[in-house]
Amino acid sequence: MNNGKAKILIVDDERGLRLGTKRLLESEGYEVDTAENGEEGIRLGKSNDYDIAIIDLKMPDKDGIEVLQNIKTAFPNTVCIIATAYASYETAIQATKLGAYSYIPKPFTPDELLSQLKRAFEHRILTLESERLKKEREERLLELAYEKTRLNTVINSIVDGVLIVNKNGETALFNPAALKYLNLNDLPLEKYCLDILPSELAETIKKIIEKEKYEQTAYSTQIEIKPNKELVIEAVCSPIPHPNSQIAGAAVVISDITEHKKIEAIKNQFVSMVAHELKTPIAAVLGYIKIILDKSLNITPEQAESYLQRSYSRLQGLLEMVNDLLDISRMELKTKQLEIKELDLVEIIKSTIEFLEFEIEKKKIKTIFNPPAEFPKIKADQSQISRLFTNLISNAIKYNKEEGEIRIRLRVDGKYAVVEVEDTGIGMSEKEKANLFSEFYRIKNEKTRGIPGTGLGLSIVKRIVETYSGKIEVVSEPNKGSNFIVYLPISR
Ligand code: ADP
Repeated sequence: MNNGKAKILIVDDERGLRLGTKRLLESEGYEVDTAENGEEGIRLGKSNDYDIAIIDLKMPDKDGIEVLQNIKTAFPNTVCIIATAYASYETAIQATKLGAYSYIPKPFTPDELLSQLKRAFEHRILTLESERLKKEREERLLELAYEKTRLNTVINSIVDGVLIVNKNGETALFNPAALKYLNLNDLPLEKYCLDILPSELAETIKKIIEKEKYEQTAYSTQIEIKPNKELVIEAVCSPIPHPNSQIAGAAVVISDITEHKKIEAIKNQFVSMVAHELKTPIAAVLGYIKIILDKSLNITPEQAESYLQRSYSRLQGLLEMVNDLLDISRMELKTKQLEIKELDLVEIIKSTIEFLEFEIEKKKIKTIFNPPAEFPKIKADQSQISRLFTNLISNAIKYNKEEGEIRIRLRVDGKYAVVEVEDTGIGMSEKEKANLFSEFYRIKNEKTRGIPGTGLGLSIVKRIVETYSGKIEVVSEPNKGSNFIVYLPISR
């Protein structure tokens, strides 16, 4: 079709008819090509998408039916009219079966031809239009299918659970993560699902889908799916708007907050532990001051001094505890900037012993440290490693007996530099050892009574060791002594 003009092919061996028809049709505004035999008709018909082809049934070289077949194979939408002087019912049937639109008996009058052509052209336009619509629909369907798979792929690969429930409480869509977090094996699609879902979630969804009008409000619920906080989820439910400003359904996004809940519990426990540990010395100091201030008690100046002394040492302990807590929090928050460099453990241990010289001498303890001439270096922050050995060696002094011994040994074990800090002190039983590295843990017995401490030293030691992917072990026997063995990776 050319600017709305029909393009026509006339295939006829009769010269007069061929040229006469061409002239007639051109005067009517059609664009016309002619072929004087079947061969030429096939060539033209196969290389141009004609709107209409008028084909003579009987030609010396080729049968009109053959021409028709060839044209139809190349351009199925070319409307073919068979022209024949031998029009019979059978030929008409045969031609139509093979794809001819109609036939016209020869000779025909201009009016007969023109009215046939008009109908044929209308048919052609309708066919082309429906072809176009069909193609468009197919493309749209393909596009939709592609969009759907893409959406499914995206939804299925989301880590969070996604669940869409329609206004009737039926499952419209969900992903594998939703099943996992709801601890369900399946959620039948397009089936009522609110009785399968955890009741808290079902209630929230109901609250949304039962609303008359759409409101942009989301609801969040935390649900313990498996007992003992084994699986805790947070489900955020929001309404899906319908074009008529009502609600089409509810969208639920589910995330696993089990770890979060566990950490929260530990944090709460830690805070209450800290509060408790801080309260004891504060209460004691308040008690002493109250006694000193209470004139009715008539305490002697010596007694007053003793209470002040006790308050002083309680407050000192409190300050130490606060400093230890600050250290722990800095390590946890990683706010302390670490200066990682190669360190010589021999040097660090020597200077730690020197630093604790006063306490060592006070208790007349003998320290034995014979480091090897060469020892591999480690890579760490100097102040942290000094803190680690200060804590261990000061414990070895504190929990040692008078005139006891501290033996410090260095050795290499595979990729680790190993330091052993052994004392000949009070030691500890297997049971007492169990929580040794927990915050505020202090062994309470006859032997430890009166030894000051915060119960934070070893938990700091453990944190430091773990910062460097090392490990710590303890061998201990009551009344014989303890050996703390620290493994720190050698710097390569
Ligand atoms: P602190 O010494 O301030 O109480 P730590 O965290 O350093 O806290 O130690 C925790 C507990 O472990 C101590 O209260 C003590 O009972 C026990 N402990 C630590 N080191 C030794 C040791 N070398 N010998 C015996 N017991 C020890």
